[in-house]
Formats: sequence, structure tokens, C-alpha cells
Amino acid sequence: MPDLRFAGIGMTSARTRDRLVQRLREQGITNLAVLDRIRNVPRHIFVDEALASRAYEDTALPIGFGQTISQPYIVARMTEALLEGGPLFNVLEVGTGCGYQTAVLAPLVQKLYTIERIEPLVQRAKQRIKELGIRNVRFRHGDGSLGWKAHAPYDGILVTAAPLVVPDALLQQLKVGGRLIVPVGPEGQQELVRITRKEQGFHRQSLGPVAFVPLLSGIT
Ligand code: SAH
Repeated sequence: MPDLRFAGIGMTSARTRDRLVQRLREQGITNLAVLDRIRNVPRHIFVDEALASRAYEDTALPIGFGQTISQPYIVARMTEALLEGGPLFNVLEVGTGCGYQTAVLAPLVQKLYTIERIEPLVQRAKQRIKELGIRNVRFRHGDGSLGWKAHAPYDGILVTAAPLVVPDALLQQLKVGGRLIVPVGPEGQQELVRITRKEQGFHRQSLGPVAFVPLLSGIT
């Protein structure tokens, strides 16, 4: 029997989700696998019940601890940018948050490692990902600016909080040909960048202005 909580009704129904997908298409998202994930991942289970009716609006929403679930357009844009350039086997996500981006990305890659510095968020995200039947994700409570060396190198690294400068550890944990999608800069002046590792050095490309919470060091 389908889980009615995931299927949604009213403001969380299939029609509401289709409208969101249509909106993302109009904003330039073209990757069909990504749009399909946005349609199928029940974003309303990642936010407080009181906010569930707003889950398919294209906005960031609070998830507690001063953090936010990223806007669907940004999740789609970052996932699309990460996928461009070939299949992804080994991927690292920094800033699990509520786990929504994790749920969108996981089935599109072979193995996903995700790190979050706020312990209760790790536990909640783990639970939701399990409920959704997604099994290729490993979670870690830690400081993602150091990467996750044990599983490096990665084909892709996606960071969902903004450092002032790109952490060197993340660059070092990229494979040649691997790409890092990261928002960089101080609040109010961040840009999303894609950094691709080449045989010699790195290629940096701007993907436009964005607004993220800061990447902080240490854990809580
Ligand atoms: N992708 C998430 C976005 C969460 S906001 C979602 O869809 O919900 C960014 C997250 O990054 C926050 O949960 C914050 O606690 C976390 N974060 C900030 N600095 C971090 C660090 N150094 N290591 C790991 N996580 C970090």
C-alpha cells in the first residue's frame, strides 16, 4: 500500500508538485532526471508539519537550529551542475541539513557520503532517508570543511553552506575530472561556483549569485 504521508494531499499533492516542476523548467532546469526527483521526493516530510502546506513553494524554509532547507530551484540547479560532465560514482555532500538535497541526489549517484555539523539534524535526516527506502547514503556528524578522507577521492562534491574561501581539503579530495559545486563568499555577496579538477590545477566557473547559510567550523 502506498504511504499516504509521502503521497500527500491538497497543498502537498501530485498537482502541487507538478506546478513546482513546471516552474523550475521555466527557470531553465532541463535535466529530466533532476526534475523527476523534484517531483518524486516528498519535500513536505522534511519540514515541520506546520510548514508542510508551503513545502512546494520555491522558497527556503526553516528546519530548526537556525538552518534552512534550500530552495527547490537551488537544489535542482546544484544537482544539475554536479551531474553535467559524466556519471557520478562516489559523491560527498557537505551540509546534510534536513536531508532533502540528499534525497534528491542519492538515486542519481552510486554512493553518497554526507556530513553535517549539528548532531540532531544528522539523526533526523538519517531517519527520513531510511523511511524513503534510500540505501546508498552514509551519514557522518562532523566538520565537512575537512571533507571525508576515508572515502576520497570523489567524482563530485556538493556543499550546501557557504565558506569565505573554498576549503583546500575539498579540492584535494576531488578526482581528476571531478567537480565541486560550492557557494562562496560573505553573506549578501555569495556566488555559486563549479570547480573542476584538471590534470594540472583547477578550472573555476561562476554559476551566478546565491544566498546560503555560512559554512562554520567545528561541530555541535
Ligand atoms: N542541503 C540542506 C541545506 C541545509 S543548510 C537541505 O536541503 O536541508 C546548510 C547546512 O550546512 C546546515 O544544516 C548547517 O548546519 C550545515 N553546515 C554548516 N557548516 C558545516 C560544516 N562545516 N560541516 C558540515 N555541515 C555544515
